[in-house]
Amino acid sequence: MSVDAPLPSSPRLMVDLDAVRSNYLLMAARSGMASCGAAIKADAYGLGLNEIAPVLARAGCTSFFCAHVSEGMIARQILGHEMEIFILNGVQYGEAPLLRQKHLIPVLSTPEHIALWQEAGENAPAALHVDTGMNRLGLPWQGNVPDMVKDLNLTLVMSHLACGSDPAHPMNRQQLERFAVIRTAFPGIRASLANSAGILLGDAWHHDLTRPGIALYGGAPLDEGGPNLAPVAHIEAPILQVFTLRQGQSVGYGATYTAPKDMTVATVAIGYADGLRRDASPGGFGRIHDQKVPLVGRVSMDLSTFDVSDLTKPPKPGDLLCLLGKDLEALAIASDTLSYEVLTGLGPRFVREYKGCGT
Ligand SMILES: *Cc1c(COP(=O)(O)O)cnc(C)c1O
Repeated sequence: MSVDAPLPSSPRLMVDLDAVRSNYLLMAARSGMASCGAAIKADAYGLGLNEIAPVLARAGCTSFFCAHVSEGMIARQILGHEMEIFILNGVQYGEAPLLRQKHLIPVLSTPEHIALWQEAGENAPAALHVDTGMNRLGLPWQGNVPDMVKDLNLTLVMSHLACGSDPAHPMNRQQLERFAVIRTAFPGIRASLANSAGILLGDAWHHDLTRPGIALYGGAPLDEGGPNLAPVAHIEAPILQVFTLRQGQSVGYGATYTAPKDMTVATVAIGYADGLRRDASPGGFGRIHDQKVPLVGRVSMDLSTFDVSDLTKPPKPGDLLCLLGKDLEALAIASDTLSYEVLTGLGPRFVREYKGCGT
């Protein structure tokens, strides 16, 4: 199928590259004196590494964070040789030669990682992940970390915040204080603690390098409030059928929704296979001509139904329904999840289009 001529029945995912650029510039400004990197793991949060990585590089980003070596190899191909690419999941058995060949920097987080990197020899740069309280990845901050990594060529020491999305959470300061201990143990080595939320906590959390992800893609870093980010992901899905639902009739699998009055309902070509989650209904909504239309009944694999009764002009089959955009967070909340999971859950069936050149 050619992207130049998408079939009218396909849902489309439009990614606004100018918005990615402006979000990066905002996060870079908010990073103060620190250099601003970018988390591009999971195909740039599901939105397309191939298109997004060059936009970030042109906006001034030189440090990129992937999760897997396989992602790092793709990023290296896209970004060329100059850029610094970190592998957050570290190094697994057998991967060290590949990492070195592609100049990927593993973020070592266990004694096993350190041994694998040391055994591989040479002294290529590595980063270190120290656990300051998240208890997910990293060497324990209380341990004798400097002794464990004596022979390494360290280029970065990092940790990750567990509760950054809640600025009032006491763990933010506790992790900051623990990270200060580690930082003192590695004088002259760059330090990095802040993801998107951490950047918004303030200067003390910025250190030398920040690692925003979700903010670049238009998702809200904080549970409440935060800066105005430009929406990046926009979905348009075609309406297949419009009909009257009589009072007392039900819609969809399980007949979970019963019309309280006569209604006009539109069936749209998007479903959970595309990442519109089943639990988005009830509570979720789309827009037609910028007017909100609520989801009714269960979302099925390829289809979902919306109540269009309140539109001034009823839609016709072939008209488009919009999702995400400025409503990303509202849809995530209705689906009992986060924008992170909504974006990375967008399915393979979209015709993907990129608008703006990001310069
Ligand atoms: C994903 C990730 C980030 C980016 O986090 P956001 O909340 O998306 O800004 C930063 N650091 C680490 C270690 C991560 O895993």
